[in-house]
Amino acid sequence: MQARIAEVTEKTKQQDVVESDFPGIHIATYATESEDFRRFIQKPLFDEEILNAPVDDYIEEVVATFNASVTDTLKVAGLDELDMIPNLSINFEIYPFGHNLYSIVFTIHEFFGGNTQDLRTKIFLVNLNEKEMLNPKELVTEDAPEAIWHQVKEQLVAQDELADYFMEEFFDENITPEDILEKMYITEDAIHFIFDKYTVAAGAAGIPEAVFTLDDFHTHFNEAFNTMLGYIKNVPGRVAVSGADRWDHIDKPHIITHRPEAGKKVALTFDDGPHPTNTLAVLDLLAKYHAKGTFFMIGTSVNFYPDLVAKVIENGHEVGEHSWTHRDFTTLDAASIQQEFDQSDAAFHKVSPWTPTLFRPPYGAYNDAVSQAIGERHIVLWSIDTLDWQSHNPQAILEHVKNNLHDGAIILMHDVHDTSVPGLALVLEYLQSQGYEMVTVSELYND
Ligand SMILES: [Zn+2]
Repeated sequence: MQARIAEVTEKTKQQDVVESDFPGIHIATYATESEDFRRFIQKPLFDEEILNAPVDDYIEEVVATFNASVTDTLKVAGLDELDMIPNLSINFEIYPFGHNLYSIVFTIHEFFGGNTQDLRTKIFLVNLNEKEMLNPKELVTEDAPEAIWHQVKEQLVAQDELADYFMEEFFDENITPEDILEKMYITEDAIHFIFDKYTVAAGAAGIPEAVFTLDDFHTHFNEAFNTMLGYIKNVPGRVAVSGADRWDHIDKPHIITHRPEAGKKVALTFDDGPHPTNTLAVLDLLAKYHAKGTFFMIGTSVNFYPDLVAKVIENGHEVGEHSWTHRDFTTLDAASIQQEFDQSDAAFHKVSPWTPTLFRPPYGAYNDAVSQAIGERHIVLWSIDTLDWQSHNPQAILEHVKNNLHDGAIILMHDVHDTSVPGLALVLEYLQSQGYEMVTVSELYND
């Protein structure tokens, strides 16, 4: 039988567009079939054409290469000699890694008969806030590529699952420090590097992967990208997650009300926010007095104003949890308490891949059941209540602070009330005049 030269003409084509779980990203599917090949393409479809263009360019290139290979293959062997019709499938997964930041990870399967199945990946890092693709080379410090190259290789060498497959000489030859960043994608809690089949290991290993935590890896990222990721050294959640040095040595449940041995320091705390105007006014005032504060936020509001939460963190303040719905936890069963934390944490994860360590129970109400349910969190109460929610009077707020001021005080205010802003201005002026330093709760607790 004579080998037939393939003509790449498409016989059927279906297109389908559905919503993904992520706002602004749709999923488009194309299934194309001819006598000579099958193609299945699944790709993200963004609302902005500027984001679709690089993805489409890449897919076009893959399809063109595949079509050429089909033609070449059929020149050598007729379809009847192949044990399977050549096929190409392009699929992708979406991983959020911050507020409107996504890793899009394509896997490309190509098959031309026989035993060889080509398996490749392609990564796009999308910033929907700025409507741009992130260039990985612009996210790292100058020395990072070389250091990352060594760190990734070291981890692949050490992996038990790869012990029989990893080929150091393949890695050295096929992967350079210049292109290792093209292999990087980011998820909520990790940095991943994936390598095409056959490039660093024997085929049986599939797609080898090295994984690092952000705590292990943030030093490679430049300041702008760490900020984008919400990775700021003084954010207590992150510090507590990474470090045994802050809160870990303290028995739980640990309940904090004040810390006199901290000396001339106080912690200003702001509950029930974030609030679109008053929280910003509070940030301005704190900056003016070189003060740091701790914000115990309501999960539903975090969900509404993630950019505001990011701004609070970026300004070096501390953020803690104040529940999802502000219900009295002593009236809730364990499952409902857990749900309050889970929903609240999910809202915070839209801002940054971290979970707050500090928790202020609504109304300061807690009991044994609450203490059991808080997990790794610490309960933060207060030693000076300004009653700002009750008086709505700046002068009265100041009087409460004046009459009760002591070293290591934790002062309770609310950044949702208009009158608390001028009240805070008076309080800051007074605290400064008395020689107090205004620090976060973690700083108050850890000199
Ligand atoms: Zn509250």
